[in-house]
Amino acid sequence: MVGEESPDHGRGFFVCAGATFVKMLHDDEFDVRREAEQASDGDLDRVLRPARFEDFTGQRAAMDNLRVFVKAARQRGEALDHVLLHGPPGLGKTTLANIVANEMGVAIRTTSGPVLDKPGDLAGLLTSLEENDVLFIDEIHRLSPVVEEYLYSAMEDYRIDLVIDTGPNARTVQIDLHPFTLVGATTRSGLLTAPLRARFGINLRLHYYDAQTLTDIVERSSGILNLDIEHAAAFEIASRSRGTPRISNALLRRIRDFAQVKGDGRVTPEVTAYALDALQVDTLGLDDMDNRILTAIIDKFGGGPVGANTLATAIGENAGTLEEVYEPYLIQEGLLVRTPRGRQATPQAYEHLGRTRAAGSGSLFDG
Ligand code: ADP
Repeated sequence: MVGEESPDHGRGFFVCAGATFVKMLHDDEFDVRREAEQASDGDLDRVLRPARFEDFTGQRAAMDNLRVFVKAARQRGEALDHVLLHGPPGLGKTTLANIVANEMGVAIRTTSGPVLDKPGDLAGLLTSLEENDVLFIDEIHRLSPVVEEYLYSAMEDYRIDLVIDTGPNARTVQIDLHPFTLVGATTRSGLLTAPLRARFGINLRLHYYDAQTLTDIVERSSGILNLDIEHAAAFEIASRSRGTPRISNALLRRIRDFAQVKGDGRVTPEVTAYALDALQVDTLGLDDMDNRILTAIIDKFGGGPVGANTLATAIGENAGTLEEVYEPYLIQEGLLVRTPRGRQATPQAYEHLGRTRAAGSGSLFDG
């Protein structure tokens, strides 16, 4: 039975009898990572995104430094030094780039590494910047070498070479740019070349958020969405968000639907537990790829140790992505360790996946 279309999310959801509703969500196969990616450009994302330093929760060390640098640059009336932000997806790199621009009182232009495929694309952007503006390049590790090289003189001397005219009349003119701040974001800092990395004066790494900080973020988002949420429910969402605010917000959005359809609109611990189970969100917040990694180590390699390249091949991923994007969270949660001989699943990983260790395996943890 399918009823009327729910008015306020426009995502093809239907208000319908509970069992059918849950089944539709199962059919839909909720995947936190995909969900989080889709959530990144919606209207909700815009309202939930913190705009100033004071709205940005967590990342204390990085934030304390950034506040000082922004304040100092403002006092001198200069552009902030170039900033490199690195860390896994969804931790707030884009948000911080926007906050830097807001706090500096300047405009921001946004682009990404794969989009800039010719130096001309970059030249157009650079020449459009006003004094002290921010240019944000997401996925900066994916810049083509020729564009990257072109960026060097812009970053260093605020100057670029432009080729004008073609054929025998072609000549190069040097153009002065306004001073600007490049904010580069990357999930794969290991892929950045040394010359590019050296041109950033400020280098900040974002870390996964702890459950308490994420609870604050969930409560803040609920406030903005006018959602009545119990603290225990916010904590449960936070604990199952893979340390990532973007996932917290994505889960909150989906749980809001359950609260509206299955309850009276309040986000209680009961509705939250029901929704998270229905959405098949892992109790530790692990996503499909996390579980595939652990399952592969345990089932295919006897729990490890297994070399990074072998493991990456087994799960169909690139070894660098495995190392920089997926492993840090599993290591932080104590599910995986890196040993000199390779990756090894911990007893917690076995327990989480409901597996028993074969006798003689996992010697690292025995005794
Ligand atoms: P990234 O660029 O690192 O992939 P984003 O900056 O796009 O991540 O952040 C994803 C979403 O998570 C944002 O829309 C924002 O709503 C939320 N978010 C990220 N960091 C924070 C934070 N520290 N406090 C509150 N919300 C945050």
